[in-house]
Amino acid sequence: MGDNFRAKLNPSFLYFYRIMKVAIVTGGNKGVGFGICRGLAKVFEGDVLLTARNVERGMKAVKDLEKEDLTVKFHLLDIDDPKSVATLAAFVKDKYGGIDVLVNNAAIAFKQAATEPFGVQAKVTIATNYFSVQDCCNQLFPLLRNGARVVNVSSSAGFLGRMKDGDLKSKFASSGSTLTYEELDSLMRDFIASANAGDHSAKGWPNSTYAVSKIGLSALTRIQQQKFSENPDLRDVVINHVHPGYVDTDMTSHKGPLTIDEGAKSPLFAATLPPNTDVKGKYIWSKCQFVDWINGPLP
Ligand code: NAP
Repeated sequence: MGDNFRAKLNPSFLYFYRIMKVAIVTGGNKGVGFGICRGLAKVFEGDVLLTARNVERGMKAVKDLEKEDLTVKFHLLDIDDPKSVATLAAFVKDKYGGIDVLVNNAAIAFKQAATEPFGVQAKVTIATNYFSVQDCCNQLFPLLRNGARVVNVSSSAGFLGRMKDGDLKSKFASSGSTLTYEELDSLMRDFIASANAGDHSAKGWPNSTYAVSKIGLSALTRIQQQKFSENPDLRDVVINHVHPGYVDTDMTSHKGPLTIDEGAKSPLFAATLPPNTDVKGKYIWSKCQFVDWINGPLP
């Protein structure tokens, strides 16, 4: 018997059905995302959706948490595939009627030793870490309930203060005030073009595709918060960008000193902010310190 049918039969079920809360974590099968799922499973009053782009890896992660007596649910999600995002959105809308927590954790990073040309690395990295995360937001944000908490997992590499002073930096610094989504998208495309032409450093871009992707994501977060704040229906929807610290994961080739649970600390803090919090559009570091994204200082 389907949930919809049961809901029609039993009004109390319908009530329960409608208010069931849900937290969604992207890239939840390993690393920091897995730590975030584990942490949410302990404290979040609702379903935790551990999403992953591969069924086997996702289901294994769910089973690993089951062994710790922690319950999360699996849903397939490849953030690079707009249809996969749309399928998740339709499922969540039907089953939960809204979203309470969204953690945009999934990302990629080329290894130092990668042999792909810099221009190729730029296109691939910006596609996933910036444009795909933006697409997830665009498709899932219409479901955010007032009171929802959104976390964009950025990085210390996404700290704007590291960028050379100049026009480019000033444009990023205007995110959250005058920079538009379209202008930010266009900056990210300019970087890919410069990376292909080999003149990105001369134009003031960092020599790291990952850093630019995370600077873009952090700037995106600031615009997204600005839009939430302007919308009276979304007065208590907040989004923050976090640096989880240098964590022992596949991404760092296990060189980071922090455990995945330590790395999950700041994302969990941002995902569980209390009602009517003032923590909005903030850059939050691994021990939950607030950092001025433009000027620092860094902790
Ligand atoms: P990780 O171990 O490499 O895990 C990345 C996760 O993202 C994996 O689950 C991966 O899935 C998933 N993913 C990648 N592309 C995806 C896609 N297209 N669709 C869905 N899932 C996708 O990395 P991590 O170290 O845990 O990093 C987690 C987040 O923290 C990232 O945003 C990263 O940039 C950020 N961060 C990490 C550190 C650090 O020290 N580790 C520092 C600063 C920021 P597969 O298993 O299928 O590949």
